Amino acid sequence: FVQIVKRYIIQIQFADQKQEFNKRPTKIGRRSLSRSISQSSTDSYGSAASYTDSSDDETSPRDKQQKNSKGNGDFCIKNIKQADFGRREIEIAEQEMPALMALRKRAQGEKPLAGAKVVGCTHITAQTAVLMETLSALGAQCRWAACNIYSTQNEVAAALAEGGFSVFAWKGESEDDFWWCIDRCVNLEGWQPNMILDDGGDLTHWIYKKYPNMFKKIKGIVEESVTGVHRLYQLSKAGKLCVPAMNVNDSVTKQKFDNLYCCRESILDGLKRTTDVMFGGKQVVVCGYGEVGKGCCAALKAMGSIVYVTEIDPICALQACMDGFRLVKLNEVIRQVDIVITCTGNKNVVVREYLDRMKNGCIVCNMGHSNTEIDVASLRTPELTWERVRSQVDHVIWPDGKRIVLLAEGRLLNLSCSTVPTFVLSITATTQALALIELYNAPEGRYKQDVYLLPKKMDEYVASLHLPTFDAHLTELSDEQAKYLGLNKNGPFKPNYYR
Ligand code: NAD
Repeated sequence: FVQIVKRYIIQIQFADQKQEFNKRPTKIGRRSLSRSISQSSTDSYGSAASYTDSSDDETSPRDKQQKNSKGNGDFCIKNIKQADFGRREIEIAEQEMPALMALRKRAQGEKPLAGAKVVGCTHITAQTAVLMETLSALGAQCRWAACNIYSTQNEVAAALAEGGFSVFAWKGESEDDFWWCIDRCVNLEGWQPNMILDDGGDLTHWIYKKYPNMFKKIKGIVEESVTGVHRLYQLSKAGKLCVPAMNVNDSVTKQKFDNLYCCRESILDGLKRTTDVMFGGKQVVVCGYGEVGKGCCAALKAMGSIVYVTEIDPICALQACMDGFRLVKLNEVIRQVDIVITCTGNKNVVVREYLDRMKNGCIVCNMGHSNTEIDVASLRTPELTWERVRSQVDHVIWPDGKRIVLLAEGRLLNLSCSTVPTFVLSITATTQALALIELYNAPEGRYKQDVYLLPKKMDEYVASLHLPTFDAHLTELSDEQAKYLGLNKNGPFKPNYYR
C-alpha cells in the first residue's frame, strides 16, 4: 500500500501544505440484511438537514423529468434548481477537508482511480460531495445513492447532478424509493461497477441479492459502518464473501477521531439546539466511559457541569476517576441529575424504573449506536402522555405532572439533532479514498476474499495529511533513534494492534 501511496500521492512537504491549508477560514443500528428495509435508511440523521428543502413540492422526484444544464438526465433528485446553493455548501465543506483537497491536487497528473467505476451508498451531504469529487479527480466514475432516507441534503444532491454525477437520492425517501435509488445506481446497461463504497451494507446486500454476477468485475468493497463491517465478517465466515473488503470502521483514524472528538464537539450542540439548556452547574450523568463517553464528559466538564460517570469496566472506570469524574451507579444519582446521556453501545441502560424516578425536567438522550440504550418502548404506556414540543423533542408526562425531556426518541443525539464537524469527516473520507485506491490497484493475490483492516502506515498517512491544518511540526526520528526503537524512519510507528 505504501508503494501505491508513494506512487500516486507525492509526499507533501509541510511548508507547501501550510501555504495551501492556511487558506481555510459527518450509524447506526441497522436491521438485518435479510429484512426488507435498511435500518440505517430510517435512522434520523438531521445533521444533514436541507436548508432549502422545498417541502411544499409534493411531487415525487421519481415522477419528475429533470436535466442538468448540459442536458444530462441520468440522476433522480428533488430539484436541480437548488444546485447553486448546494455548490456553496460543498465549497464550505472543502475548507475543512484539507487532505482530500491535497489528494486532488497531487493526483492532477496521475489518476490512481482511472478506470474505476465506483458505486456508492452513503449519506449524501456536502462532505460526501467533496469525497465524490475527489474520487472523480483521481479518475473514477461514480454513481451514488443515499444510505439513509432522511440524510440527503437536497441542494448538495442537486449540485452533484449539475456537475455530472449520477445521484439518486432525496430527503424523505420512502422504503420503496430507497431500494429503487440503489437499483438505479447499479442496474444500468453498458455500465458495471468495479468498486463498492458502502455505509451500512445495504448496497452490498442488494448486489448480492439481485446481481451476484456483478461481483465477477468488482475488485473490492470499502465499508464504513459498524453494522456493514459486521455483515461482511458474517459473509466471510460463511465463505460467501466473493471479493476483498476493507473495514474502514475499525481503523484507528476513524475510532480515535470520530468517536472521541466528534462527540466532544457535537454533544453540546445537540443538547443546545434541542433544549437551549445552560450547562454551567448542571448535574449530568454519562453512562459509559469509552471514546464517546470520554468526549461527552470532557465537553460538559469544560462548560462547568457536574459530571457523574457510570461504567461496568474497571479500567474505564478508573480512567473516569483519574480524569476527575465521580463514578457512581445510576440509581445513586438518578433522582438528582438534570441530564442523562447514554454512550455504552449496550441495551436497556436507562430502563423505566429509572425514568420513573427522574426529576421533573430531566433531559434524557443517547449518543450510542443503537436506540436501545434507553428503553423508550417502556414509555409507551397509557398513563403517560407524549407531547411533541419541537422537532426531535418530546415531553413525556407522568400523571402527577412530572415531565422528562426525551431527545430524538432515544436515537443518536448528535446525528439526529446537530451537525458533526466536517474536519472529523474529512479524516474518515480520506481513509475511504485511500482504501479504494489500495483495493483498486492491489496486484492479484495481495487481498483474498476476506475482510482487511487498513495498514497502520495508511492510518498514519491519513493523520499526517491533516497535521498541516494546525501548522503542526512533526519530529523525525534520527537514524540512531530509529535503530534504537527498531523502527523504520518513515513508519509505521506503532504495531497494528495499537489503539
Ligand atoms: P466503547 O466500547 O469504547 O465504550 C463503551 C463503554 O460503555 C465501555 O467502556 C463499556 O464498558 C461501557 N458500558 C457497557 N455497558 C455499560 C453499562 N450498562 N453501564 C455503563 N457502562 C457500560 O465504545 P465507544 O467508542 O465509546 O462507542 C460507544 C457507542 O457510541 C457505540 O455504540 C458506538 O457505535 C457509538 N458511536 C457514536 C458516535 C456518535 O457520533 N454519536 C460516534 C462513534 C460511535
